[in-house]
Amino acid sequence: MSPVTFRAAVLHEVGQPLVVERLTLKPLGPHDVLVQIRASGLCHTDLEVIQGQLFYPRPIVLGHEGAGVVEAVGAGVTLVRPGDHVVCSWNPSCGHCFYCDRDQPILCEVFTRTQPRGQLLDGASRLELDGRPVHHFSAVSSHAEFCVVH
Ligand SMILES: [Zn+2]
Ligand SMILES: [Zn+2]
Repeated sequence: MSPVTFRAAVLHEVGQPLVVERLTLKPLGPHDVLVQIRASGLCHTDLEVIQGQLFYPRPIVLGHEGAGVVEAVGAGVTLVRPGDHVVCSWNPSCGHCFYCDRDQPILCEVFTRTQPRGQLLDGASRLELDGRPVHHFSAVSSHAEFCVVH
């Protein structure tokens, strides 16, 4: 059974330390994969968000280099199943936009629109803290016990 809450390192304010909070997981969407994180790289990009050189909406869970084990999948997921070992992509693609159709998923229009807003590809967040949405970083947010990816 999927966890209803889990711990994550949250950036509330630029220049302030991350705070480990217990987040609420909203129901998985049809194309979501819930991953139990086993390893999460600390990248300089995370530091740039913390220090304010890169702007992202907050509160946000950083970490975009995650690996772990699939815990649960949405109803429409066919590529992986619970128990699979996976590496999360920090540049996921929708598979059906102008660039995805031309074998250039790195330029995915859906990702380039939703990523700066701290959203998953469907334009929403699956994370909440005290009833308020928490933003995703690069559609991964791996500095946490679990993350939701497309
Ligand atoms: Zn990185
Ligand atoms: Zn696309």
